[in-house]
Amino acid sequence: MKPFGYLRAGSVEEAVRAGADHPGARYLGGGTNLVDLMKLGVEQPPLLIDVGRLPLDRIEERPDGGLRIGALVRNSELAAAAPVRDRYPALSQAVLAGASGQLRNTATTGGNLLQRTRCTYFQDTSKPCNKREPGTGCPAREGAHRDLAVIGHSEHCVATQPSDMAVALAALDATVHLHGPEGEREVPVTEFHRLPGDRPERDTVLRPGELITAIELPPARAAAHSCFRKARDRASFAFALVSVAAVLEVRDGAIQYAALAFGGLAHRPWRARAAEEVLVGAPATQGTFGRAADAELTAARPLPENGFKVPLARNLTVGVLADLAARD
Ligand SMILES: Cc1cc2nc3c(=O)[nH]c(=O)nc-3n(C[C@H](O)[C@H](O)[C@H](O)COP(=O)(O)OP(=O)(O)OC[C@H]3O[C@@H](n4cnc5c(N)ncnc54)[C@H](O)[C@@H]3O)c2cc1C
Ligand code: SF4
Repeated sequence: MKPFGYLRAGSVEEAVRAGADHPGARYLGGGTNLVDLMKLGVEQPPLLIDVGRLPLDRIEERPDGGLRIGALVRNSELAAAAPVRDRYPALSQAVLAGASGQLRNTATTGGNLLQRTRCTYFQDTSKPCNKREPGTGCPAREGAHRDLAVIGHSEHCVATQPSDMAVALAALDATVHLHGPEGEREVPVTEFHRLPGDRPERDTVLRPGELITAIELPPARAAAHSCFRKARDRASFAFALVSVAAVLEVRDGAIQYAALAFGGLAHRPWRARAAEEVLVGAPATQGTFGRAADAELTAARPLPENGFKVPLARNLTVGVLADLAARD
């Protein structure tokens, strides 16, 4: 075992200072991903900064009608919270679609957002991987890539972002609140995860030492419905092949508002802006929903073994939007 230091932070400032002073240090949330990766030798932090006792474990109403979710709110608590279930059902459904009850009791909001890809080569230190060791290559392109990206990938990496929760947050226009050595800042969830480009080792735009303190949701649209749906190989305990989070508002048969995000297709939750453009103002029909999905998925560039994801994403989108439209 590689030796590592351990610090239990007493305040956000102490945690951030330690993060800045120890390059390569990692914040410890629930540990359900980080500790696994340490056991595999993928992560080898010199210092674990345990943020588990920081006062970031509350869900608070905002004056504007939005919701602030502390970075340490456990996944189970988030999914079960009445304001989340009532006003942002897609978020509750997405969290419940991930992992298992035991894991959700331990996993935190911040850790969920930052969990690493499940690409098998990334998790196997005997194999090359540009994300784990920049410049070593990407064996997934020629090897096992059935679960990996079909859109927005690069010659350097075809990994997918695994968090279901992040997909719902992208459709719901959530914002990530960060505290770092240079102060506080906010980043929209849609811009938080990166596409791989030629720097696949960087999953997100997080700067060294930055701590996620909260996720903020804007007020839910009163007349809109939201939903998350996930296609996977098993009914539970499996990551998404494709997932869809959608928000839809229909009045007199016409779509007033639409927000759509895909999971399992890309290196980040994929906000489907081209699909949204087709949807808004159009009649809420199966034909519109299919055209919207096609408008987005025309950018897909599947690899030899994951072309099935494109029609799967289309069918999932049409089904989810049809169900949401039927509720009006
Ligand atoms: C068997 C299994 C099945 C799973 N299935 C699914 C699934 O289907 N869908 C899904 O979405 N997830 C799934 N998960 C993943 C699970 O949701 C994550 O492991 C969990 O959400 C990570 O949360 P954590 O608090 O334990 O993070 P940790 O393991 O503590 O941390 C993860 C990363 O985030 C960093 N971090 C943690 N908190 C902060 C913070 N506040 N600020 C900055 N950095 C931070 C850590 O340094 C680390 O790099 C599964 C996990 C397992 C083990
Ligand atoms: S897809 Fe990305 S994570 Fe997987 S082997 Fe290639 S570089 Fe590594």
